[in-house]
Order: sequence, then C-alpha cells, then structure tokens
Amino acid sequence: MTKVRTRFAPSPTGYMHIGNLRTALYEYLVAKKEPDGVFMLRIEDTDQGRLVEGATDIIYETLKQCGLKHDEGPDVGGDYGPYVQSERMKSGIYKEYAFKLIELGGAHICFCDEETIDNQRKIAEARGESFKYDDPCKNLSKEEVQRRIDAGEPYVIRQNIPLTGTTTFHDEVYGDITVENSTLDESILLKSDGFPTYNFANIIDDHTMNITHVVRGNEYLSSTPKYNLIYEAFGWNIPTYIHCPPVMKDEHHKLSKRNGDASFQDLVAKGYLPEAIINYIALLGWSPETDQEIYTLDELKQAFNVKRIGTSGAIFDIEKLTWMNGMYLRKMDIDTYYKLVEPHIAKAVKGNYDHLSIAKILQQRANTLNEIDEMLDFIDTYLPFNIDLYTNKKMKTNPEIALNSLKAAYDTLSDLEDWSEESLHDTLMNLVTVLQIKNGQLLYPIRVALTNKQFTPGGAIEIGHILQKDESLRRIKESIINLEK
Ligand code: GLU
Repeated sequence: MTKVRTRFAPSPTGYMHIGNLRTALYEYLVAKKEPDGVFMLRIEDTDQGRLVEGATDIIYETLKQCGLKHDEGPDVGGDYGPYVQSERMKSGIYKEYAFKLIELGGAHICFCDEETIDNQRKIAEARGESFKYDDPCKNLSKEEVQRRIDAGEPYVIRQNIPLTGTTTFHDEVYGDITVENSTLDESILLKSDGFPTYNFANIIDDHTMNITHVVRGNEYLSSTPKYNLIYEAFGWNIPTYIHCPPVMKDEHHKLSKRNGDASFQDLVAKGYLPEAIINYIALLGWSPETDQEIYTLDELKQAFNVKRIGTSGAIFDIEKLTWMNGMYLRKMDIDTYYKLVEPHIAKAVKGNYDHLSIAKILQQRANTLNEIDEMLDFIDTYLPFNIDLYTNKKMKTNPEIALNSLKAAYDTLSDLEDWSEESLHDTLMNLVTVLQIKNGQLLYPIRVALTNKQFTPGGAIEIGHILQKDESLRRIKESIINLEK
C-alpha cells in the first residue's frame, strides 16, 4: 500500500485565515490518522503579484502554534524539495512538463493577446452567453510555432480541452461529479514570464511530490476536471480529492479576510488559545460520530473521518468558540494558567495585589484572555456606588437587608486579624448563623460593596482576600454611608 502523503499548499499572501487553517488541519489529520502518513508544507508563490512580505513566517508560526507539525517543508527539508514553488521553477520543471504536455496533445502554444481574449470574454458574459475561446494558434504548424518562438514573440501555454464529451471525477466529500467539457475553458498553464499558473503548478507538484490526498476548499471543485484531463494526458494517477465546504460568516457570506473577518492571528490577539481554535475549527464542516465536542489534537487524529465531512457551508460562531476557549482555560492546571494570564493581570491591575489569587478567580470565569481587563477593573479602582445593585431577587436582598448585613460584617471583620481566605470564610459563615439569614444575604451585599459590580470573577471571600483588610473595610464603610443616605 502507498503511504498517505498530504500537503498544505498556502500562498503567502498575508494572515492565515480560518478557512485556510482548517484545510491545514484536515490535511494534517488525513495524514496523521495513518501510522506513517506524511504531512508536507509547500509554499505556492508563483503568483508574484500577490506575495506579502513576512507571510511565509506567519505560516510557519501558525502551524507551530497549532501543533500541526509538518514532516517536510522549506524549513525542515525532505526528499521532495525544494518546497517553495519559485525555487522549484529554477530547475525548469514546469516549462519542461508543459512542453511535454504539448507533445502529448494536452496543451498548445498560444500567441494571442490576453487583452483581446479578455475583451471577447467580457462581451460574451455581458450578453449572458458562455464563452469559449476558439484559439487560432491551434492551427499553426509546428514550424510556424517554432519560428515565432525563435523570433522572440511572447507566448503562453494553454490547456487543450476537448470540445465535446464529459469528464467525470470522484470527490470523497461531494461524490461523483460529471461536467460537460464544453463548459471548461482552456486556461493558461504557463504564463509569458515563464511562471506556471496555480492550475498547472499544483498538478506537477502534487505528482512529483507523490501526494496521495488533496484537501482544499470547494472553490477548486469546478476546476478539478481540467486538472484531471492533465493527469490523464500524462498518464498519471489522480490523487484522492477531499474538497471542503466553505467556512461561512453567516448563511450567505463566506468568512473572508478581505471583509475584515478574523484571521487566526486576530483571534490569538483577542485572547483565544490556539488549541481551542483548532478544536473549534475541526468541527466546522466535520461532525464526529459521538456528541463529544472537546478534542485534543491526538483525539482528533483518532476520531477524524473524511466520510463525515459535510457538503454545506459551516458557520463560524464566535460565541461557540468563546465558550470552548473558556472550557480550555478552566481545564488548565493553575501553574500553566498563571503563566498565561499573569502578564494580563499585571497590565490590568496597578498596585500591590496577589496576582496568583487574582488568577484563581479569573480561571473560573474568563472565557478569553481579553476579557480580563474589564473583569478586573474594580480592583485598583473604586467604582461608583450604585444602589440598584443591592436589590437582587435570587439573593433575597434589598438595600435595607444589605445595610444590616454590611454593618454587622464591618464590626466583625474589623476585629479579624487573620485575613486568610479560610479565616474570612469561617468568620462570615459564623456571622450568617448568628444573624440567622441566608448566605447570599450576607455574601452578596459584601461582594457588591467591595466591587460596585453585579458580576465579578470570585465571590466576597476571594475578593476580600485580594483587596486585603484596610481596603475591604474602607469600601464596606463607604457603602454603609451611601446606603444610609
Ligand atoms: N495555493 C492554493 C491556495 O492557497 C492551494 C490550493 C490547493 O490546496 O490546491 O488556495
């Protein structure tokens, strides 16, 4: 049996968008489901006009952050290099194969002016007619073609498509697809500057790099029959195709960087964890057999199955990702979590507070690292008093009950010497018993007095401990005065 070899073949055109990263993940999983599967990275930079400086580094960095380790690639080497198309080009590989394809009858040289053809296409499209360029260069004799090349006339190499008949291919996700050859246009394979187009380079590379499975977005589905005609002309094996449904922003629009939709880097900057992003995007288009939703990358390798990739677009739901991110944050051991959030805490809170205690309350609540700032605003700032907060049905409190509780708490806590969480806990629980009220009728007003907020990470005890004795008593006193007004 042949070894499974997949490739992630991004064009270095900027940030890594979510659809692209999902393709990389699926390529990785298809390879890594097998004990000896190979996941390869190939940089497709033949469209020189679209290149963005630094984009290749973003690709490396993203794969690394996500744990999608490639076995072969420009930065790690391998037996099938070079792994960058512009470098592959230097050996003349694309031109050589393009001329071979001409000999095999799969392509021809074309001297026509691109602009003229484009105009004809536009006119036809405006009329609502389908356009198929009837290239007069196909009728030139071999000698004439050679003479014009020798004379230095610019030319491109164009694919030959039969005028009649159909081409059928199989896709693992979309099934068998048949198209009329008459609907396929004779695309350029090699441009006049000698660069191959994507349409050609991807075939030559996938074949010469022994790729067995091609995973990519379904926008390539319609060109795939053309690629197959080329494979057939060469007499090469056609790879297994796995075209993925689009990642959508909503029912009608694809997620796209061009529309300002979040890239992987944006999400990380917003405080999402790469492992949560990977987990979430695995489920965009693929549905597991069970209702398990949280997967490590290793678990994904086990569970992933191409047969369960759907055909319709999957909507990217930021709230679901946020929820999942929270699950990951809460599952972390406190040391790891602390390392991760400490810089955020240091930024959010000025003054001398115990950051580890703050991390502990955050871990129970924050879904992303970026919420931290807002969640901790009450620590180093005393927010304005708000009487409405003291009325809470669930806690069975109102301003009068709160005032009584706070007065009692103030007296008791003033005498407390050991300000540890344990001691605060025992003291306040004891006070609940003495006052014969419910826990919430004491703890809720204290928490509100300490924070002037309805929702906070942590409860009265943890927050009192973080604020320490003097500040806690000062805030409780302040609330008493305000409630008495
Ligand atoms: N360079 C292409 C892209 O970035 C790759 C498509 C493919 O995987 O074949 O969309």
